[in-house]
Amino acid sequence: MSAETPAKKTLAAIKGTKDILPGEVEVWQMVEAGIRRLVELYGFRELRAPIIEPTELFEKGTGETSDIVTKEMYAFTDKGGRSITLRPEYTPSMARAILEHRLDLQPELMRYYYMGPMFRYDKPQKGRYRQFHQLDIEVFNEKDPAVDAEIIEMAGALLGSLGVAETETLVNSVGCRVCRPAYSRDLKASAEKVRDRLCPDCQRKITTNPLRIFDCKVEGCREEAARFPKITGYLCPECREHFAQVLSYLDLYKIAYKVEPNLVRGLDYYTKTTFEIISRGLGAQNALLGGGRYDDMMKDFGGPDICGTGFAMGLERLISVLHIRTERKKVLYIAHMGEDGKRKGLELARFFRGSGIGCLLEFGNKGFKAQFGRANKLGAAWVLIIGEDEIRKGLYQLKDMAAGTQTEGTAEDLLKIIRKKDGDMS
Ligand code: AMP
Repeated sequence: MSAETPAKKTLAAIKGTKDILPGEVEVWQMVEAGIRRLVELYGFRELRAPIIEPTELFEKGTGETSDIVTKEMYAFTDKGGRSITLRPEYTPSMARAILEHRLDLQPELMRYYYMGPMFRYDKPQKGRYRQFHQLDIEVFNEKDPAVDAEIIEMAGALLGSLGVAETETLVNSVGCRVCRPAYSRDLKASAEKVRDRLCPDCQRKITTNPLRIFDCKVEGCREEAARFPKITGYLCPECREHFAQVLSYLDLYKIAYKVEPNLVRGLDYYTKTTFEIISRGLGAQNALLGGGRYDDMMKDFGGPDICGTGFAMGLERLISVLHIRTERKKVLYIAHMGEDGKRKGLELARFFRGSGIGCLLEFGNKGFKAQFGRANKLGAAWVLIIGEDEIRKGLYQLKDMAAGTQTEGTAEDLLKIIRKKDGDMS
């Protein structure tokens, strides 16, 4: 490099995003498989929507006064002049897809799940990223409070099946369009009295949506908010009954929970039940999952009167509290010599892979000794040796690396040996 050449800047992942590398990705795959197995037991089926959506979807769905919409959206104008947003959460996409495809007219239960990346332009910290992954669970058209309890039970079962301990379940009811206006009025009055002690953002929220003050992360605002009136005292008879029923079903499941009257959650659409499961093993960002009921979203989207309830779980946070070790898949290393050996190696790799045995072979004319060294380093369970003699006889040497034993045989014989000794290596 000459003295004038400017120093090259290394390209790096965008702040708040992460690569999930081999070694880590196996844990993700295990967790994802475990999640799929479990949620399908509860009748959930996967619904995959695009990562980009019209910005309007989240303004209408997530809510124009939410932090997500006002501050955190990755929104841009595309070449056609449309405002597009990288989804910050999944519920509005799910509701849109149902309406667009009229899934509500099908006889199946509307229970859907999805796992994938979400995007929020928040300040990155431990447990909070700009691209993160969520498991999203939604049930539509089921008004019964038993369904709220059932998904909370499922969330607990999911965490239990993955070995997550030390969790706490928080529940609340945020009322509905009948009872919330009176609460908002009183909340506004209380917030107005301490306006000077609130951050500028919360001062603005007093007029736009006082409930959102509870989302504020500023310590002073949190202290003030703790003294504000509680929504639970304002619930209309229908919401009160619904909440009592949810709690009674949680009791039936013997789920320990805490009623947390300030749990309003950051999204505008919740009605009645809200809940969170927090982990004591996490730091400031301690919510593993959160959700609740949203009975008005479909109507607000111009669709039929279909209620919804669900939750979203952060997979990064979940994985950070797990202690899972994954084992490398066993492989057969094919050691070969010369052009004929290489050709035979390619043929045999195809044969073994076709039989479900993972194979590795490397090129570059290394000697057998060096190839054994590599096989050892790569943790191969078996090494197949293809030298001149072997090609001539059509019989190959198979070394069992753990036992140190070596056997001669045709490819079919050796396949049987591998299968017998190891079950399924695929
Ligand atoms: P929310 O969609 O805000 O209700 O969040 C549901 C769950 O998603 C949270 O409990 C977290 O586990 C996870 N989550 C939300 N935002 C982030 C983020 N920025 N980074 C990582 N995980 C997140």
